[in-house]
Amino acid sequence: MNPFLNPVFLSKMLKSYLFDINRLHSLDKKELKKYQDKQLRKIVQFSYTVPLYHDKYKKKNIKPHDIKGIEDLEKLPIISKEDIEKYYPDGVISTKINKNQLIQISTSGTTGKSLSLFGDMFDMVLWFFYYIRALREHGISWYKNRLTIIGDFAPHTIGTGYVQRGLLSNLGEGRFFNNMQWLDTNSDPKFIVKEINNFKPDFIGGYVGMLGHIALLKEKGYGENINPNVIASIGSVLTNPLRKLLENTFNASVFEVYGATETGTIAFQCRNGCYHIMSDLVYPEFFKNNKPTLSREPGKMLITKLYGKGTPIIRYNAINDIVAPLYEECDCGISGGMIDRIYGRDDLALYFSGGRVLLPASISEIHGRVLSELKTNKIKHTRIIQHNLNNLEIKLIIDNKLRNQGPTINEIISVIKNGYQDKIGKEIVINIREVDKVNMKEARVITKVDRNKFKIKKYI
Ligand SMILES: [Zn+2]
Repeated sequence: MNPFLNPVFLSKMLKSYLFDINRLHSLDKKELKKYQDKQLRKIVQFSYTVPLYHDKYKKKNIKPHDIKGIEDLEKLPIISKEDIEKYYPDGVISTKINKNQLIQISTSGTTGKSLSLFGDMFDMVLWFFYYIRALREHGISWYKNRLTIIGDFAPHTIGTGYVQRGLLSNLGEGRFFNNMQWLDTNSDPKFIVKEINNFKPDFIGGYVGMLGHIALLKEKGYGENINPNVIASIGSVLTNPLRKLLENTFNASVFEVYGATETGTIAFQCRNGCYHIMSDLVYPEFFKNNKPTLSREPGKMLITKLYGKGTPIIRYNAINDIVAPLYEECDCGISGGMIDRIYGRDDLALYFSGGRVLLPASISEIHGRVLSELKTNKIKHTRIIQHNLNNLEIKLIIDNKLRNQGPTINEIISVIKNGYQDKIGKEIVINIREVDKVNMKEARVITKVDRNKFKIKKYI
């Protein structure tokens, strides 16, 4: 049955629209903490009906009533990706919930195997509402302005699950959302530019890579009617050069939305540029060598999702991002926690002498110089293999359609090489070359350095 025709669901949705979106503005610190405690108690209670959590909690002899608030979180065991895989499908959902009411979603699996879990219909509504929260912060109205959203609509992604099978199939494309344009980031950038050019949006939301493509095409004279006031990036880390490129090309303000398939939206940038955690939705914890990190110190993130009737996510350790918290205040009026910086996935990092870790954000920055300095996107794919602490191999696949335009391959190679040497030093051996093909199933970054034996001293 279409849940949008169900009065109970609709009234829940209306209530959520009126109160949830504005919560981080309407609650002060103390009230928010109280709200988080209540949500945590509810979700722990609920997770006790989910076999995966039931088994784990029983083993540690934890009863739901032992958890009274956020300060008790550390009593709970950590949940890994393998735990979810082991109990999937029936063991990751509540025995009290009918599986037909849930939507299966999968992580994109850019670094190997993808993970499947379940969300519920209301997760989907909230995902949309919290996007509205971020838009409002930047002066964009979801019903007055024209919005282009370039999602990942490959089968089984969160975009397909929530938007295509959820929102659009239940509410009808073109009627309720006729000021919105939904495009698929897996399409050809030229097609995307043509579509956006016809639609003339005030706002564009999309993945970092696709936004870069659009900016370059715009610089080359395509898409003269693409003049958004605001652009939001999702997916991987938005590097500074790319942010500048977007700001300058479109004369727009740019903000980043940070989220994960498992949890939904985690944080977004306010108009001051600070990353505010969606503290009424998620509660992240940050650790380095098993100790909580200090303000601005990068660490590994554990995350707890404070809502939903799908697969509970409580102290989950496999978002795999290196993130630094920020224990300071922002004067924008949004309450809750803050993040200093998102450095990217730790399984995509590289390791060097002296305990130095080159973070994905820095790797993207190096490779991003090809786009920002040489103004070309003729590198179609990149594979980075680290053979040892002192030796990198980088394979590039060139887009044949662009081969004879812009800078030479040697110029590109030298920009990348200099980029690495600037960050790591001249002693590093780097072998960069063009290849005909790469194994698309393989991770983009592979290191043969044993991460488990590596003692981290410094993040670069
Ligand atoms: Zn702020």
